Amino acid sequence: RVKERGRNGFSFYDAIIDQMARRRLKLDAKLRAAIEQAQLEIHYQPILALEHQQIIGAEALVRWHDPELGPISPAEFIPLAESNGLIHRLGEQVLSTACRQAAEWQALCPLQLSVNVSSVQFHQGERLLAEIRRVLASSALPPQCLTIEVTESLLLGNHKDLNSQLQSLADSGISLAIDDFGTGYSALSYLQAFPFDKLKIDRSFLRHLDRNQADKSLVQAILAMAQALGLQVVAEGIEEAWQGEFLIQHGCQFGQGFYYGRPVPAEAFEAMLRDAPRLSPLPVADAVASR
Ligand code: C2E
Ligand code: MG
Ligand code: MG
Ligand code: MG
Repeated sequence: RVKERGRNGFSFYDAIIDQMARRRLKLDAKLRAAIEQAQLEIHYQPILALEHQQIIGAEALVRWHDPELGPISPAEFIPLAESNGLIHRLGEQVLSTACRQAAEWQALCPLQLSVNVSSVQFHQGERLLAEIRRVLASSALPPQCLTIEVTESLLLGNHKDLNSQLQSLADSGISLAIDDFGTGYSALSYLQAFPFDKLKIDRSFLRHLDRNQADKSLVQAILAMAQALGLQVVAEGIEEAWQGEFLIQHGCQFGQGFYYGRPVPAEAFEAMLRDAPRLSPLPVADAVASR
């Protein structure tokens, strides 16, 4: 289509918006097809007990490689899936594949599986709970081995069933984690109001821990608060040894990040579980008991 407003400069912005709209439409159609054809993959990132550098868990992270467009970041297609409703099927595929995989890995070692669940998925209410129960039953993964990660945005929408949904998950033995902690706008009181038992410190706080006194104080405050409330803490985005050291020194027990291991396909994760001698897993019960 020919743009006719060239002289006042609008055409430049029109062209960008046009391009964005086109990409969105294209991604929308491609994502729908990828989900229908079960082309999404899952990578697994190790979560470690920091002090002993033992793998105690894995976070399932969805991956999409389109033959034409190449790899597309979840940061781009998850929000898209949330807005066009595809998140429900996507979420179910991730949950069932990851639970089946984690159930298999239990034979090698006790492992916590963390799965991200979008706040949009909670709008389904009872259906989401039924889906989670069904997936756990059919994969034979013990509920105690599953952690569901949600972001603070879940708590902003005030649908009143939320607490009973979360409570019912917690009652069945599933662990609940607040992801990207510290980046949202929620009041801290939700940590008490909802049955969370884990908190994941967002990686933005770790980046300048060495230089930025404010970040340092925030991380220390989060750790103290978590301890007071009996929450386990997982630090995200550990890229260098000194960050791990700082966290251990300040009482953070668990962490994940490129320094310990990037998200990798199932086979590579399994090889890591089998091979790495220093990364031999700690029984989950011990990890919990040593809080
Ligand atoms: P998240 O749940 O906070 O996941 C952690 C993200 O940080 C992942 O990005 C991971 O690759 C990245 N990461 C881990 N360690 C490091 C590190 O040391 N340095 C840096 N720079 N990054 C690190 P990814 O896989 O691109 O996912 C981005 C976000 O997309 C996730 O953030 C999560 O919110 C969402 N997401 C991913 N998979 C799923 C899924 O299956 N369902 C839903 N609803 N959301 C998902
Ligand atoms: Mg997460
Ligand atoms: Mg996170
Ligand atoms: Mg995130």
